[in-house]
Amino acid sequence: MKQISEPARQIDVIHETDVLVVGSGPGGLSAALAAARAGVAVTLVERFGCFGGNITVVGVEGMHWYRHEHTVESMGIPKEFEDAAKEAGAAVPESQSLSYEIDSEGFKLVADRMVEKAGIHPMLHRQFVAPIMQGDAITGIITESKAGREAILARRVIDATGDADVAHRAGAPTRLTPREDMMAASVMFHLAGVDKEKFMEGVRADPQTYADWGGGGEWNIETSGKEDEMFSPFLGKPFAKAIRAGIIPAHLNTIAGTWGAVHDTGELTYMNLVHLDGIDGTDPDSLTRGEIEGRRQAMLAIAALRRFTPGCEGARLRNFGMSLGVRDTRKVDTMYHMREADVREQGRFEDSIGIFPEFIDGYGVLILPTTGRYFQIPYRNLLPGRVKNLLVSGRATGAERIAHAATRNMACCAVIGQGAGVAAALSVRQGRDLDNVDIGDIQAELERQGARVW
Ligand SMILES: Cc1cc2nc3c(=O)[nH]c(=O)nc-3n(C[C@H](O)[C@H](O)[C@H](O)COP(=O)(O)OP(=O)(O)OC[C@H]3O[C@@H](n4cnc5c(N)ncnc54)[C@H](O)[C@@H]3O)c2cc1C
Repeated sequence: MKQISEPARQIDVIHETDVLVVGSGPGGLSAALAAARAGVAVTLVERFGCFGGNITVVGVEGMHWYRHEHTVESMGIPKEFEDAAKEAGAAVPESQSLSYEIDSEGFKLVADRMVEKAGIHPMLHRQFVAPIMQGDAITGIITESKAGREAILARRVIDATGDADVAHRAGAPTRLTPREDMMAASVMFHLAGVDKEKFMEGVRADPQTYADWGGGGEWNIETSGKEDEMFSPFLGKPFAKAIRAGIIPAHLNTIAGTWGAVHDTGELTYMNLVHLDGIDGTDPDSLTRGEIEGRRQAMLAIAALRRFTPGCEGARLRNFGMSLGVRDTRKVDTMYHMREADVREQGRFEDSIGIFPEFIDGYGVLILPTTGRYFQIPYRNLLPGRVKNLLVSGRATGAERIAHAATRNMACCAVIGQGAGVAAALSVRQGRDLDNVDIGDIQAELERQGARVW
């Protein structure tokens, strides 16, 4: 490949902070809030124009859809997200669980208010492009934006980019899931013009269950058995009919999935129907293909719904997510890798920073937390090897395949974020390295903030 040399240059230091969080999804937003509440100066950097990550950028609205009667909750910030959305009128009852679906547009405002109230310094429209290193310690980041390249200095950095961008470029060992094993990427969309009453009549007349998920790609699942007869907002039949009618080409039998909420105003939101294999979220050419192909498939799905789903005859596209949804890219080789046995067998750790119910969703497995079982997440899971002053939050923490299917869930990412934020803040306040902060102090502060640690 041809190469050029980029000339060295001087860069303005535009800002200095105690804790710098890069990325504002469930893992980053919660980290910033927790660090600010623990009493240090916090800055939140985000490449897009809103906070919320996949919730607001992709339109993933089902944050707590795992919740059933006996589910033991993590409490803390993940629960606050749902409560704040409800209070702001940005949530509606979710169709398959005892939870509320978060309105992806409304949550932009909810996140703004939470950031403002916590006194976090917001920096939208800035993309992290390089770490600032002193030896093996990260001391800040360089961003690119309309203002060009700028430097931000920080005493501790939390990588919440989802793709481990910071850790990877800072030299921490990371693993990129092989492309053929990556979870599918999705173009998400919302519909308008749905007749709610007629749609719900159709759902009641032919209720779907998790057992109906079988039949192709992402939706072939192994359950524990107890899930099989439970109601699922699954849509498969309209697309099978559309293939038979020649509306959808036969090879696109991967079009199927779930709807999230149907609103009184005729919106059917969080349409999780398009699944694209082999899209690598760290490769812009692959992302380009995914965006264009995903939008094409979404329109085929809408054509099928209009023809074969009661209440959707007059449906039209309301909007696509602002970006393709990516589920799985790099993970950091953190000091502890979550193992399959941890999430399936109620892992317990002395350095727990939070709990998450036994909810596994991905790589062909679906286990719902209907029994009160839960696992703990150890602080070591957030500590990358080699790079000092850096913590990882969200879906890029070290995890084996099936463990990732649990920890990638948004509420779990927010649990991890709250742990990361508290640990980074205490490390600054106590003047100790991140791997030397008293774990008892971290746990006490998390409990003070309302999180469940044990
Ligand atoms: C289509 C789809 C459906 C899903 N369904 C569900 C579901 O129903 N329930 C559930 O719990 N989970 C679901 N997930 C998984 C969940 O959304 C993610 O695993 C979770 O959002 C990860 O949180 P995060 O904070 O680590 O990353 P993200 O939510 O991806 O947030 C990362 C943030 O970092 C920003 N960022 C990235 N790189 C940079 C950079 N270089 N500089 C600055 N900012 C940067 C991004 O813009 C983004 O705002 C789904 C995922 C997808 C894609």
